[in-house]
Amino acid sequence: MVSDDDRVPDIVARDDRSTPRESGDAVIAEMVASGREVMRKANVAARDVAAAGCSSPGPLDHKTGVVIQTQNIVGFTNMPIATRLGDGLGVKVFLDRDTCMAAIAESLIGAARGAKDFVYLTVSTGVGGAIVAGGRMVRGVANTAGELGHWPVAFQLDAARDAGDGVPRCRCGSFGCVEAFAAGANLAEQLGVGGAGDVYAAADAGDARARALIVRAERALANLAVGIVNGLDPSVIVVGGSISEHQPKHVLDPMRRAIQERAFKAPAAAVRLMPAALGADVGMHGAVLEARERAAGRGDWFL
Ligand SMILES: [Zn+2]
Repeated sequence: MVSDDDRVPDIVARDDRSTPRESGDAVIAEMVASGREVMRKANVAARDVAAAGCSSPGPLDHKTGVVIQTQNIVGFTNMPIATRLGDGLGVKVFLDRDTCMAAIAESLIGAARGAKDFVYLTVSTGVGGAIVAGGRMVRGVANTAGELGHWPVAFQLDAARDAGDGVPRCRCGSFGCVEAFAAGANLAEQLGVGGAGDVYAAADAGDARARALIVRAERALANLAVGIVNGLDPSVIVVGGSISEHQPKHVLDPMRRAIQERAFKAPAAAVRLMPAALGADVGMHGAVLEARERAAGRGDWFL
């Protein structure tokens, strides 16, 4: 939307590491070591780096660069990650939620190019998203807008029982969230296997329990799709994440079918639901693009 360069940038060096589990300080130290290793591989000095981007799960404050809380990273509570990384690397660091950065990348160089109203959804280990409306990223008052994985899509129908009885609990503390049904980690946990790929493989091999879990996941995503179309009326829904990429007939197809069958006719006719264009590197592209825009004093539309 505000880019002066909409080509997919070359990735000239990369360094992948697993996340330490002992403390937040250990995670920061590993990230700094990784950043330095990338600069060494690319043969650039810190003083020649215009900016760095850091993509993190939230909730977080993208303006102050503080991660407020994450469910999956030890020690990341009120962690001033942009400052800590910036000090460690000698580079200005910009922080944002992983899904917001992914949406920025899909907007500038990916499947949502030119769209002023779009929703980015990722279906992966977790389920998350970001919302752009009227050409602006919707942030909300606590910067959690777009956390579509925690949209509740199920509840107990029997009024004599509690609303959450018999409904999958979610790690967020609520129940019936899309994530509790459709996230890879939840699917694997519910079947008692190592990863989501094992659940889809078991279903293909005829395992009735795996098939039932996948049907529930499809229905949760279908309900979310109808809610997005009726409630937000976007021109594009971009769906990324590893499960979406590897199992499109269990993610994109049920969402498209539900929109056609059950959403309001006018927004259903206007919306395109499409796979993300940037694949597994969407977070990295988003981090670089957001850092580039903010370092240049641009990016008002997503701040
Ligand atoms: Zn939840």
